[in-house]
Amino acid sequence: MKLMEYEAKSVFAENGIPVPRGVVIRSPAELAAKFRDLPREFVLKAQVEVGGRGKAGGIVMADQASGERMAAELFGRTIKGVPVHEILAEEKLSITHEYYASIAIDRATKCALILFTEEGGVDIETLARERPEAVRKGALPVLMNRIPPFMERNLLGKAPREIGLVLQKLYQVFLRKDAMLAEINPLVSTPQGVFAADAKLIIDDNALKRQGITQNRDLSEREREAEKHGFSYVELSGSIGVIGNGAGLTMATLDLIGFYGGKAANFLDVGGGADQERVMHAVRLVAGVPTVKVIIVNLLGGITRCDDVARGIIEAGVRQTIIVRLAGTNEAEGKALLAEQGYRMLDSMEEAVRAAVEVAK
Ligand code: GDP
Ligand code: MN
Repeated sequence: MKLMEYEAKSVFAENGIPVPRGVVIRSPAELAAKFRDLPREFVLKAQVEVGGRGKAGGIVMADQASGERMAAELFGRTIKGVPVHEILAEEKLSITHEYYASIAIDRATKCALILFTEEGGVDIETLARERPEAVRKGALPVLMNRIPPFMERNLLGKAPREIGLVLQKLYQVFLRKDAMLAEINPLVSTPQGVFAADAKLIIDDNALKRQGITQNRDLSEREREAEKHGFSYVELSGSIGVIGNGAGLTMATLDLIGFYGGKAANFLDVGGGADQERVMHAVRLVAGVPTVKVIIVNLLGGITRCDDVARGIIEAGVRQTIIVRLAGTNEAEGKALLAEQGYRMLDSMEEAVRAAVEVAK
């Protein structure tokens, strides 16, 4: 799980890495309300999970007079297609030098791979390609509880001792948080000392439970409902509801919808052995999404019986058009039941999807 910059910075701060003074705001008005002793100049940083955020317009310099207006403008922007819901407002630093430091898991050597360069701030991949000698590396078995002094010296080059301290603390964060990546770019020198001006922390998903982290996503009512029934469900933004069994078949249905120029409203995998009741719940759930105009049910009968599926669809009794593609166990019985009720059925997945896209238009 990738943490937001402000979450990563709060982890850094807890572990003794200096970070700039700042607050997270969710509206322009919160700037003055939350940022006590508002600095004369500050930086507004969109909290979005995209790389190259600065270049994409996600970082704005502001001062007391322009702050609220600039924040409003940034809230109105999308950064590489991602809307801005949170902004980290931070005191502007007078940067004298930018370094780069990162620690990542290297699967090949089963080590923590430490990268450091005195030429930070820039895109590290580009630097590593164009001037590989500028990026120094150290591989450390994670049984080591600190970076050994010789390795620290090698990595640092001419960088000052305080930078070495931050590197050691970053390694502690990396170990304690079961990180896949802990990165500071730029790690900066200022007249006030060194600071992590940016922060990136990716925690191994397998360690989330141990770390006591619950995914910080608010589930919608429908998502909770889906969880209750054991469906794999993801809400999207289109108008074609999708119900399939098996992640592969459901994803393939989504792909085809995109291919034929439609937009899916959701991903719903009813799972294996779906019976009449599960199918009914699935259809009602998807039909409850306000944007859904048409629903495609694409189910393969194995343990799941097509006649059960048909009864589930009929029992759901929803207002939207449903296009059905059924194949497998008890296919003939299922189709007969649906035909009696006037449901539209198509044998080929491509045709079924095309029909759904057509209805959605
Ligand atoms: P990224 O584009 O998402 O990596 O965003 P960063 O937080 O790394 O910021 C990008 C660049 O903006 C940095 O490399 C700095 O040059 C500049 N920047 C960020 N914060 C400050 C600050 O407080 N003061 C100054 N002068 N520059 C900053
Ligand atoms: Mn950065």
